[in-house]
Amino acid sequence: MTERDRPLPDVETIAAAYGVAADPAFGAVAPPLYLSSTYEFAGYERPRVYDYGRAGNPTRDMLADALAELEGGAGAVVTSSGMAALDLLAGGLRVGALVVAPHDCYGGTMRLLKARAERGQIGLRLVDQGDAAALDAALEASPALVLIETPSNPLMRVVDIAALAGRAKAAGAEVAVDNTFLSPAIQRPILLGADYVIHSTTKYLNGHSDVIGGAVVAADRGKAEQLRQWANVVGSAGAPFDAWLTLRGLRTLFARLERQQANAMAVAQYLESHRAVAKVHYPGLRSHPGHGVASRQQRGFGAMLSFELAGGVEAVRRFLPAVRFFTLAESLGGVESLVAHPATMTHADMGDEARAVAGISDGLLRFSIGLEAEKDLIAGLEEGLAACA
Ligand SMILES: *Cc1c(COP(=O)(O)O)cnc(C)c1O
Repeated sequence: MTERDRPLPDVETIAAAYGVAADPAFGAVAPPLYLSSTYEFAGYERPRVYDYGRAGNPTRDMLADALAELEGGAGAVVTSSGMAALDLLAGGLRVGALVVAPHDCYGGTMRLLKARAERGQIGLRLVDQGDAAALDAALEASPALVLIETPSNPLMRVVDIAALAGRAKAAGAEVAVDNTFLSPAIQRPILLGADYVIHSTTKYLNGHSDVIGGAVVAADRGKAEQLRQWANVVGSAGAPFDAWLTLRGLRTLFARLERQQANAMAVAQYLESHRAVAKVHYPGLRSHPGHGVASRQQRGFGAMLSFELAGGVEAVRRFLPAVRFFTLAESLGGVESLVAHPATMTHADMGDEARAVAGISDGLLRFSIGLEAEKDLIAGLEEGLAACA
């Protein structure tokens, strides 16, 4: 078989092996880390592939190429944070271009888009992306960019990416999907029609809670190149060491998520059967309104879930000091289980009224499920829930 006839490697293989044993200097199996900020020219008027670290870096590019392949895109830019990735897209829009975003999008995304809108740099419409009429009304205003987040944070609402992307593109908009909550191990939005995928690599892609980073993957090669140039203009590149750590984290992405989502399903089922719990939001449960769409467009249900304590905020006060194996912290996607209280933590900036509209109650808690033993997580939860009674 010639190289050309061989089938492309599977995504698991890309995650585990992209760039492995590709070191021309010493045959290093693990890709080397290039920290150099600058590169020697081969001679007068003879630049090499790399000249300066803001414009390009071999370690960062290896991560970018791996992410592009994982997402089924043509190219990617690795940035210093998820927010920098989002702003790479938003900041590159023409002045006055309209952005349509979910009214319950990630808090940092909301803050960024509102800040740019307040400065007159973009127009902004926030819609309930599950409300077809609201979305169609927004699309009539000819947006340049439609942002999709699914599942949403923290209520895990699921929307049909292919359907939304189809309508947005018919209206002349580009479509970006924030895929942070699932990663390409579970959902690949470009294959469903998205033009861009945005990541906070801080979360599942790195997976070890020790890097802040981001990425934009573009479906189109020309657009990927434009983003790469723009990242050099504005200086949003991620650090090489962070890229190296993230590439190392990526190796185990599929294995981590497989185990984490199995734990999440067990936790969701346990919570659903407990009388101290009023409601569980996890797309893997048949009771979840997004279960059908999630089953179609995802390869699994992920490891994020949220639930409402029947006793409201008073129960939250008792639960948090009593629960074991869940650390009270923001962020998600690491190997360790975390619990967050959206109303006072991740979604505090929204204000009471907007939280009420979005359906985020004071008794709501969000879990990022880790790699601990299932029985320990359930036992730890049992202690927390017993304290609520
Ligand atoms: C964390 C997060 C971001 C922002 O990423 P940072 O790396 O913290 O800048 C954006 N979108 C979603 C869905 C996130 O969870």
